[in-house]
Amino acid sequence: MLGLGWRPFNQAEEHQIVSSIVEAEKLTSGEIKVHVDKWCKTDPVYKAQNVFHHLKMDETQARNGVLIYVALKEHKISIIGDVGIHELVGPGFWNNTMDHMLQEIKSKGVVEGICAGIDDAAKLLATHFPAKDDDKDELSNDISYG
Ligand code: CA
Ligand code: CA
Repeated sequence: MLGLGWRPFNQAEEHQIVSSIVEAEKLTSGEIKVHVDKWCKTDPVYKAQNVFHHLKMDETQARNGVLIYVALKEHKISIIGDVGIHELVGPGFWNNTMDHMLQEIKSKGVVEGICAGIDDAAKLLATHFPAKDDDKDELSNDISYG
């Protein structure tokens, strides 16, 4: 994999994740991203918050970004949303989504688990931030790798 750096997923798996994001963002103005690290030496929620800022996910117009964070080698995962979403949902949503992702990871693997999180976030975002005609793709749908 010349110069491409670390790529834990094959092309089909990457495509599955990115397609889930593309489909999700057809329903909502919200922005969903996936970041994958090998290791996470700290709390995965804390790490996700740092990544969120680093990827400029806190600069969307409606502050409605959602980040799914995965540290593959340590089987750590977290999902966080920006302040615009926190005003609307309590911790229950994030806990339920985490449970759902972990279930899917156990039964079907990490890619399905990530996609389950994307789908849950899409449903939530579509309710509160429906897609608009002039919607922009504010954050690229590519997977970000640590
Ligand atoms: Ca958008
Ligand atoms: Ca996007």
